[in-house]
Amino acid sequence: MNRIELFQELTGAFGISGYEEEITGILKKHFGDRVTMMRDGIGSLIAKKSGAAEQPKIMFAAHMDEIGFMVKSITKKGFIKFLTMGGWYEGNLPGLRVQVKTKNGMVPGVIGQKAIHDLPEEERKKLPKVDHMYIDVGATHEYDIKEKLGIRPGDPVIPDYPFVQLANKDLCMAKAWDDRVGCALLVDLLNNLSAADHPNTVYLTGTVQEEVGLRGARTSAFSIAPDIGFALDVSLCRDTPGNDDDSPEKLGSGVGILIRDSTMIPHTKLRDFVCELAEHNNIPYHFTSIKGGYDTGVIHITKYGVPSLAIGIPTRYVHSGSSIISLTDYEHVLNLITLIVKNLDAEALKNILI
Ligand SMILES: [Zn+2]
Repeated sequence: MNRIELFQELTGAFGISGYEEEITGILKKHFGDRVTMMRDGIGSLIAKKSGAAEQPKIMFAAHMDEIGFMVKSITKKGFIKFLTMGGWYEGNLPGLRVQVKTKNGMVPGVIGQKAIHDLPEEERKKLPKVDHMYIDVGATHEYDIKEKLGIRPGDPVIPDYPFVQLANKDLCMAKAWDDRVGCALLVDLLNNLSAADHPNTVYLTGTVQEEVGLRGARTSAFSIAPDIGFALDVSLCRDTPGNDDDSPEKLGSGVGILIRDSTMIPHTKLRDFVCELAEHNNIPYHFTSIKGGYDTGVIHITKYGVPSLAIGIPTRYVHSGSSIISLTDYEHVLNLITLIVKNLDAEALKNILI
């Protein structure tokens, strides 16, 4: 399977928070027998890749869940009222194509609301409200969706947009780059490590329920008790109209190194270790920040504290139905995390902790 096929497989998979089994299966298949695998009690997948030394134990976390929705109730006329799962911007919702996963299979639909033509002037100026929206899967007075389709409260719903390589072939658009791009990095990192010696033990961790509060990272970090923690996730691009023209956070600008998010300040010596590795190896990187949290937000306060850093892949339109990443950036991130594993030995850990 080539990289584009891996991206297609991972971004096409279905998995809101709490419903990550499909992605777990994909990761298990790609990890194969090169690692020892276990699940924690709420479903995170922990794959242990042993190197020349038991320590340092390095945890790489990528979350398997994507933002989506859940069926809340069905109206008498057969429209689905829904709950949001993860941080959606209400303005991105009307017109979004979705798939509802029912016990009988997938059902396509669209998020609807009252036509703009019928909205009072005042309401047109405001953000639409989730309470006023619904999912339309084609109910009519003759077509009872409960009876025909078996849709039930609790059924998960995801955006329905296929993977597309843009005319600019370096760019790929898909749903759920957040964080299937991190999941792809776990697979490719293992591919790189299979042919290399490394002076440590690596834990490739597909976490659950990140989008609803970093829950899987908390339990999996407790299970692993790592010496060092990394989150591999999307970082923001600020290279589109309306942003500061001087922003370094651009597609094609390499690795995003998080200097701050709402849940963590990175360990500065670990950050410097990573930046120096990038500089010595001509890997472009930039500093970035975000309101919100990464899995490192809970990893770094596990047990006695774990030096941690979030590493981002610059992504346009994070937390919408379609987002865009660059293949070149992906390659840079992969090269950097491979170098981290090859260089982070007991001596390097000692220097970081001193
Ligand atoms: Zn994420």
